[in-house]
Amino acid sequence: MKLYWKIILVSLLPLVVALGLGFLNLEGLLGFQRSAREASDELKMTVLRSRLRDFREDRRRKAHVLAGASDTESAVQERDTHYLVERGKLFLDPLRASRILFVDADGVVLGRAHAPACFGDDLGGHPAFALALRGVEDNGFFVLDGELLLLRVAPVRQYGERIIGAVGIGALVTPELLAYFVEGAGIGIEWEVEGFPAISSGPHDGTKRTVEFAPRFAETSLPMRRFAAVFMEDEIAQNLEAFRKNLLRTLLVLVVLLPTGLLLLLRRYLRPFSLLVEDLTLLSGTREDFFELRGKLAHNYPDGNHEVSVVARAISRLMERVQETITLLEWTSRTDPLTRISNRLHLDSVLEHEMDACAKTGAPLSVLIFDLDRFKTVNDDFGHQAGDRVLRRTAELLKSLLPVGFVGRWGGEEFLAVLPGADEEEALEFGERLREAVATEPFSIGRRVTISGGVARMVAGDTPGSLVGRADKGLYEAKASGRNRVTLRKA
Ligand code: GH3
Ligand code: MG
Ligand code: MG
Repeated sequence: MKLYWKIILVSLLPLVVALGLGFLNLEGLLGFQRSAREASDELKMTVLRSRLRDFREDRRRKAHVLAGASDTESAVQERDTHYLVERGKLFLDPLRASRILFVDADGVVLGRAHAPACFGDDLGGHPAFALALRGVEDNGFFVLDGELLLLRVAPVRQYGERIIGAVGIGALVTPELLAYFVEGAGIGIEWEVEGFPAISSGPHDGTKRTVEFAPRFAETSLPMRRFAAVFMEDEIAQNLEAFRKNLLRTLLVLVVLLPTGLLLLLRRYLRPFSLLVEDLTLLSGTREDFFELRGKLAHNYPDGNHEVSVVARAISRLMERVQETITLLEWTSRTDPLTRISNRLHLDSVLEHEMDACAKTGAPLSVLIFDLDRFKTVNDDFGHQAGDRVLRRTAELLKSLLPVGFVGRWGGEEFLAVLPGADEEEALEFGERLREAVATEPFSIGRRVTISGGVARMVAGDTPGSLVGRADKGLYEAKASGRNRVTLRKA
């Protein structure tokens, strides 16, 4: 998994989990709040229903008391308007606009308690009175005298049997009446009776919620277009609901936008890290990889302030140092520190390698080994440092005269030249030139120094040891026969 994916996962997971848990808690809280609200709504509706029932019961009771009383019965029979009006006044509601009226068996008004001067008109055609005069007590919305009333009409019977008239008891349908129904219930009420403008128990500020419900009225009653309880929305609940919506939106944004944004951002900043890691896997340790990787680092991460560029440059510099150190170590391991030409170790491998190559191609190969004559006396007479200088100068001469091949210090004051492509004559000729050069070199000690050498040419089956051994024998012969000469030793 890439680093930036891990970062996204690690940073987002706790956030989403925390928000998710918060959301679940809120859901629980809202659920609890919703059920509490439903319970309270139910309670309010129960209060409203019971108010309506009580009102209805009150009207029924009053109508019955009025209609069933024997003095009402005799006053209706005697058409005693004055008495009926005075009696009706006792039943008028002092708090709300109420209407009480009496009719005879034909529906002719005998008296109006709320308007004593008005009587004698005919209400026989009024649906509620017509029904009551036929023995059916009616209750509902009716228009009477141009007013909308909640009206109950009860028949007046003689001896409890023959209908001789009726009593109507009504309440004017006004906002005050509706306010009475919901008083203290914490809700409002809205009614609309067909043919009349809608009225409500009062102005409702803020957000409201209405629940329709239909109380039962007589069939002859004016139909109701609307009968609704109005609940005011709880501000805290509304805020919670809004918070829930916002949280849901935030969660969505978090889940969609944040990972995308983070991914883009992190990819931009961490992709170079991934690429650097990929590049670094190249580093197996061989010299070629070193060069290739350094080239890549220089190309892929040019100067810049990005951390990766800084790291890449540091790695490149480090590799440069390592390369230099390796080069130095390699040079040191194959170089003689005094004469700065190849040492014995390197000469061994060079000789083996060149012998193999020439054996394969069939080209000739010869070696020349030489030794400084009576060198001990140089040290003895001029000191060791002078001896060192002589050794260094001899190596320089050897290097400068060498046509093709390799030279090195074989040990002490002995040197070896490997001459691939040279036969014994050419090797001998090179040995002679070198011998002469040394013999005529003034050095810095004011004394002639000579060398003795032995030459041998590689033959089939030769090993480095046998080849150098033969040349060494030539050197021994040169020493034995008077020094300052080079001797060829044939196989
Ligand atoms: P010969 O002609 O038989 O070779 O006589 P020689 O004196 O050269 O031979 P010998 O083997 O007796 O002595 C070799 C001397 O070379 C002894 C040693 O002090 C000297 N020598 C070897 N290596 C070094 C070196 O690194 N520096 C110096 N200054 N002298 C060295
Ligand atoms: Mg010597
Ligand atoms: Mg020697």
